[in-house]
Amino acid sequence: MRTLATVQTVTTAEPIPGADAIEKIRVLGWWVVVKKGEFRPGDRVVYCEIDSLLPEVPDFEFLRPSSYKPAIVDGTGTVLQHAGFRIKTVRLRGQVSQGICFPLIILPTGTPNGEGADVTEALGVRKWEPPQTGSAGRSKGNFPGFLPKTDETRAQVLEKTLARYQGVEFYLTEKLDGTSFTAFVRAGEFGVCSRNLLLDTTDDTATLVRVAKALGLEERLRTFVAARGHDVAVQGEVIGPGVQQNKYGLKELAMKVFNVFDVSAYRYLDRSDMLTAVAELGLEPVPALGTLVLDHGVDELVALSEGTSTLNPKVQREGIVLRPLSEVQDDYLGRLSFKAINPKFLLKYDE
Ligand code: ATP
Ligand code: MN
Ligand code: MN
Repeated sequence: MRTLATVQTVTTAEPIPGADAIEKIRVLGWWVVVKKGEFRPGDRVVYCEIDSLLPEVPDFEFLRPSSYKPAIVDGTGTVLQHAGFRIKTVRLRGQVSQGICFPLIILPTGTPNGEGADVTEALGVRKWEPPQTGSAGRSKGNFPGFLPKTDETRAQVLEKTLARYQGVEFYLTEKLDGTSFTAFVRAGEFGVCSRNLLLDTTDDTATLVRVAKALGLEERLRTFVAARGHDVAVQGEVIGPGVQQNKYGLKELAMKVFNVFDVSAYRYLDRSDMLTAVAELGLEPVPALGTLVLDHGVDELVALSEGTSTLNPKVQREGIVLRPLSEVQDDYLGRLSFKAINPKFLLKYDE
């Protein structure tokens, strides 16, 4: 579960050019537009990140006109998404604002409110998840325990991590807005997974199963495993018709690899070994955007995330993913790898 609401300290308040009723304050690595004087540097606040869905309680009712989202219920009456007030990226007087701040008094009495306290549950905050696209198909079980799930943390919550790795060389890839794909061969068995589930590969209606078949992945992976002498998984993003409105305007489904994982050693391959493996497997990697020596704070990384997609110069890219050329395990983050999302993408597509 993503931590969406936490107790944080406001570090900065700055004017917005041309605006006198509002200003911007800094919380973690985020800029939030607020009424002038509402919060001061040093104030402790409840901060709710973008993608928060706030419950329909009196404290949040003022958000109804701008942010109310009704529940999404499927044909069988199952609630796919609860109703509530959805916090998203907005632009006010030219200033991008991400998230929302409240005084600590909105917390139920007795809620721990120390710096960094996770108050997501105490406030009943849920994650806003846009309905999934593509045909999910039948699942055979949970995501296997012998593989890591795909995920990337946002740079905005990693100021301390960024400080620690200044001077380290990172490579950048384009973050693609599709759906997560994993395929593996382990102990002689081939499998395909979505973000959270192991799929039934006999169900040809599933988008990800179709992709695996079209790529001949089972055979390719088996050949690779036989040659290398260890089990392996590939993880990538599936994009194209039927997936996330096919933003890139592709004619066919494609799968762009961002991880090759040595299942036997429980280890990601380093960048160059990964690219060699991807080529050997006859697959394609996610678009490469070069390297940099980290000398950047959150704002600089967000600025770097802006730009159009390598796959289609007419569309905003979703963002960038940064990783060191050699895999690094960080005490706080786990695998050293994180994302910066392009604000222009969020403003355009995140309804
Ligand atoms: P959040 O945790 O911020 O709520 P999320 O977990 O739903 O968001 P994303 O914002 O899509 O997910 O970020 C992580 C996903 O990005 C990965 O699971 C992977 O499927 C996808 N992805 C796309 N392009 C890349 C890339 N170049 N490198 C790594 N992951 C990528
Ligand atoms: Mn995530
Ligand atoms: Mn995604």
